[in-house]
Amino acid sequence: MQTSHFAARQFLPETIDLTDTAQLAPVFDRLAAKLDAIASVADLEGWLCDHGEVCAALAESSSLTYIAMTCQTDDEAREKAYMHIVEVVDPWLKPRQFALMRTLAQSPVFKQLPPFYAVYCRSVETQVKIYREENVARETAVAKLTQQYQKISGAMTVQFDGQEQTLARMGRIQEEPDRPRREAAWKTVTERRLQDTDKLEELFDQLLVLRNEIAQAAGFPDFRAYTFASYERFDYTPEDCLRFHDAVEHHVVPLARDLQEERRRKLGVEPLRPWDLAVDPDQRPPLHPFAESAELLEKCHQIFGKLDPRLGDYYQVLRKQELVDLDNRKGKAPGGYQSTLPEARVPFIFMNAVGVHRDVETMLHEAGHAFHALAARELPLHAYRSAPIEFCEVASMGMELLAAPHLRAFYSDDDAKRAQRDHLEGIIKFFPWMATVDAFQHWIYTHPGHTRDERAACWLSLMDRFGGIEDWSGFPKARAHIWHRQLHIFEIPFYYVEYGIAQLGALQLWQAARRDLPAALDHYLAGLSLGGSRPLPELFAAAGLAFDFTDKTIAPLMSNVKDALVELAT
Ligand SMILES: [Zn+2]
Repeated sequence: MQTSHFAARQFLPETIDLTDTAQLAPVFDRLAAKLDAIASVADLEGWLCDHGEVCAALAESSSLTYIAMTCQTDDEAREKAYMHIVEVVDPWLKPRQFALMRTLAQSPVFKQLPPFYAVYCRSVETQVKIYREENVARETAVAKLTQQYQKISGAMTVQFDGQEQTLARMGRIQEEPDRPRREAAWKTVTERRLQDTDKLEELFDQLLVLRNEIAQAAGFPDFRAYTFASYERFDYTPEDCLRFHDAVEHHVVPLARDLQEERRRKLGVEPLRPWDLAVDPDQRPPLHPFAESAELLEKCHQIFGKLDPRLGDYYQVLRKQELVDLDNRKGKAPGGYQSTLPEARVPFIFMNAVGVHRDVETMLHEAGHAFHALAARELPLHAYRSAPIEFCEVASMGMELLAAPHLRAFYSDDDAKRAQRDHLEGIIKFFPWMATVDAFQHWIYTHPGHTRDERAACWLSLMDRFGGIEDWSGFPKARAHIWHRQLHIFEIPFYYVEYGIAQLGALQLWQAARRDLPAALDHYLAGLSLGGSRPLPELFAAAGLAFDFTDKTIAPLMSNVKDALVELAT
């Protein structure tokens, strides 16, 4: 990694140790004193620069420590450094940052800031409005319970093929062509999950109590209303989400069921069962896009360069400054992510490439996030250099779709078509699941005091409404508790619809690119360059997209996806 500060520090000493709260204390004292003395808009704008500089430096310190740890999890010193930030620095910072925000919101000059700051101001006002000292302990209790969820889930293993297996490894068997083997694996995993059903129900009941208390203490009628405020969902309401579910039911569910029927026919089974859903319906071996990660890096570079020279240049920044760690190796954390170094104002991409198609998807996705960070790096306000998640995922999911016609960099014509088809089918499958998970939580948090049986009944009715055609006979209890697998429901309530909203943006972008690619890319980059400086509907509009999740947008998108699937099948 070769980085330097995007702009020289004006307020923070160059030599400060940002993990030492004794050195941070005078910095926050100075910020507080300067804020108290503010007399004009110019003073306040200067203060926002100073505060942004401190926030960026702290966030970069935290990002670098996290990156270092995930690149080498078996290095104790790295883990200790990261835990120090989580356990010491962050809890020390939180009340001090909140105190600054409260003083800021009360300052008469705050109300006089020009319109450019509107999005920032409403965020500050909301943070101040919902904060309650008494909720801090409840949030800690919630965090501990969600850790337990991770522990219970992470501890699940089964005996299969004569040895102990994780559920992640068992998941891969679902892609194998041998049907009796898939069935045996599925049943083994399902039985194992059912052993913890009561434990997870108990845990969830405790979470519900705490979450309802948090909402009440903050003065909200229920936890849904509280969450919409705390996630700063200013531009859509719970009712908009309910309408989104309806549109998914009418326009996506039939398409998803048709695809399952086609799968059933190709597999030659009757009926389709839960262990028939992940295998390739044509029983082909998995795709093999590359052997070495250097090849992944180079071929993605070709794709981006072909799409638009500006994207090629952005990607060159990543390569030149060595802002990627791609290879899977012992000691590396699993998965992939894109992180930002806010002081250098550059992105960093982490993944575990092993030569499967998923690696190509991850790279295209994370590169979309990286382009977002680079496109927004010139914005003057630190808070504006990142966007709300509903739009961030348009940058990444949109890039997956924009790059899809160039997959021949990795594949033969047939395999490239297969990859594109799988991608579109995956998008279709995702929407009904998203609607199920989201609708379930709308019901849960607006029906306090419900029983476990009522909760299971609600879930089952949603499975009927949005689910597939596969036959679950013999497994009613498993079907009623599938939601136990969805960690968001336990850990990040209501956080899931964002992906649905973003995917609609990404599909619109894909549609626009099929009509006029250069214009779509201009719009894409124009939207990205705004960072988080505008409300969501304006970010979407700048990218040439409608911020709308009703039939009006979804119906034509789905009909286009359907046409594309037919084209790709021939
Ligand atoms: Zn993403």
